[in-house]
Amino acid sequence: MKLSDRAEEILEAMWIAIAEEGADFAEPERIGIDIGDHSYKELTGLALIEIKEGHIYFRHEGREEGRKTIRRHRLAERLIMDVLMIRGEEGDEKACEFEHLLKEGVDTKICTMLNHPSTCPHGKLIPPGDCCHEARKSGDLGVLPLTEFKPKEEVEIVFIQTDDDKKMQKLMAMGVMPGNRMVLLQTFPSYIFRIGFSEFAIDSNMAREIFVRRLQ
Ligand SMILES: [Zn+2]
Ligand SMILES: [Zn+2]
Repeated sequence: MKLSDRAEEILEAMWIAIAEEGADFAEPERIGIDIGDHSYKELTGLALIEIKEGHIYFRHEGREEGRKTIRRHRLAERLIMDVLMIRGEEGDEKACEFEHLLKEGVDTKICTMLNHPSTCPHGKLIPPGDCCHEARKSGDLGVLPLTEFKPKEEVEIVFIQTDDDKKMQKLMAMGVMPGNRMVLLQTFPSYIFRIGFSEFAIDSNMAREIFVRRLQ
């Protein structure tokens, strides 16, 4: 379904108000939208939403479209903030532009590349797609912080989530870089792992910033 960017933003705001915050309908002023907006006509014309007594309701298809739209938005955030490391206001802005490009199939590719993340960088749930259900069925845990793994597990580093240059340099000097493999040796009282022939120890705060996936 090809919607205007504005219409997609309305569906997202409605998804948050209705599906996540539990309201029965969305109120135009609360989601910051003027009911005279022509994107409303676009959405009512496609029978995605209906407006009754000034309240906006999802129709069945609209709810599904809202779910897909919020999914694309949060996947875009993950990509922009975690992989491209564009954070803060600029990251939010770029994610908002980028999400509209993630049409059919592209979101699946990005989701798979990011290993089916379950939350956005703000901690909000990313509604799962078919790709996520299939990955889970095949026993793929996806990308998780190193703190979620047990000793003896061999993992591949996917990305490091830190704004601290010194920390990043320290990790890189150990070989903690995307694409490298490590074997976790110990998780308490500190995290000890092996990369290549060398062993290193870090504290749990640092381990939480290393995102890895288990090697099958
Ligand atoms: Zn977010
Ligand atoms: Zn997925």
